Amino acid sequence: MNPYVEEVYDDVLKRDPNEPEFHQAVHEVLESISLAVDKHPEYQETRLLERLVEPERQIIFRVPWVDDNGEVQVNRGYRVEFNSALGPYKGGLRFHKSVNRNIIKFLGFEQIFKNALTAQGIGGGKGGSDFDPHGRSDTEIMRFCQQFMTELYRHIGEQTDVPAGDIGVGGREIGYLFGMYKRLTNRFESGVLTGKSLNWGGSLVRTEATGYGTVLFAQSMLDVKGETLDGKRVVVSGSGNVSIYAVEKAQQLGADVVTVSDSSGWVLDEDGIDVELLKQIKEVERGRIKEYADRKKGVKFFSGSRPWEVPCDIALPCATQNELNDKDAKRLIENGVKAVSEGANMPSTPDAVDMFQEADVLFGPGKAANAGGVATSALEMEQNASRASWSFEKAEGRLTEIMKNIHDDAYATSEEYGRPGDYVLGANITGFERVATAMLEQGIV
Ligand code: GLU
Repeated sequence: MNPYVEEVYDDVLKRDPNEPEFHQAVHEVLESISLAVDKHPEYQETRLLERLVEPERQIIFRVPWVDDNGEVQVNRGYRVEFNSALGPYKGGLRFHKSVNRNIIKFLGFEQIFKNALTAQGIGGGKGGSDFDPHGRSDTEIMRFCQQFMTELYRHIGEQTDVPAGDIGVGGREIGYLFGMYKRLTNRFESGVLTGKSLNWGGSLVRTEATGYGTVLFAQSMLDVKGETLDGKRVVVSGSGNVSIYAVEKAQQLGADVVTVSDSSGWVLDEDGIDVELLKQIKEVERGRIKEYADRKKGVKFFSGSRPWEVPCDIALPCATQNELNDKDAKRLIENGVKAVSEGANMPSTPDAVDMFQEADVLFGPGKAANAGGVATSALEMEQNASRASWSFEKAEGRLTEIMKNIHDDAYATSEEYGRPGDYVLGANITGFERVATAMLEQGIV
């Protein structure tokens, strides 16, 4: 590593010692950009990396609310506005019991480079709460979202910071958050949130976008090797919004998808995942994945772990961070995996990534492979700004084009740095250079 890069990383460790996921995300980026930093002494002169790893603003707030039993609950809300060099802060809100400042910082940091890769003029941010939506009634979800917004509203805006969904935050939550924002500000400001309902400013394809994009990225990687998804056996983890539409797109492109999972376990369906049944259980009934096995003949349910032991050509980790470790990677490689495309944010541990790359497995890192969601959010902002609503075909066409460009730009950078096909290096340097150039041009701010 370049000595300046190393010094910056050591300072990050010292300054916030208890943030392992944030350290992991920063380390991966700094390691990849080291070669680019060698070429630019002005980065060190302007302390650009120190500024890059320090969020522009971090907001932490109390979210008190009353549950259905009349009990007062107190959660913690976060919004980390990480970098606005390329545009208003943009990134999702995660409601999950594991949320803390470290998790939101890692996600916000990743978001900076992901958003830069989309080339759509969006900065990076992330937020959320340690609120656990599991088992909560619809009115509890509504009250929580309203209380969360009574603080968040003063920090966001269509030209300032534009939240969206992430784990635990989908169309329903965005509706409740938007309703409270409108009431508090007396403004119907469509562009303040994305992932909205189609009835009042949402974009077609936003729901499908992350999962579709992850598969399109896998397809682009295979294309370089003269291969396609047709007839490939695909293993997917997760069963939320990203996974469902990754399954759907992979099937449209002729692949056989045989697994999905949730935090309780995973299912193996050798006849191919029935997407309609999956949508019914997960989107309509908000149930557990075990029900999929209970309702469809011949499906096996395995409790606990993830589906990485299942032999496959393509693995799509679409659940959460660090869900695929070195042992899983070893198993996948032994079983002949050809490509891994990350639908989740940082699902593979650093050791797993190294192993895939050493074994010449095509590896699409999340910040490139799952950028389709935020890219389509930016398309939603574009439609809101012009009061337009595009057709499904138009929105999907734009998404496809953006995913192809992200792939091609990352690939071109990997070639330029003498590591063709190293998408980690390619994506990190491409995203970083766009942000770094804007930061230099905008001075010390
Ligand atoms: N949470 C998604 C992500 O990780 C989407 C963010 C957005 O649409 O702003 O990129």
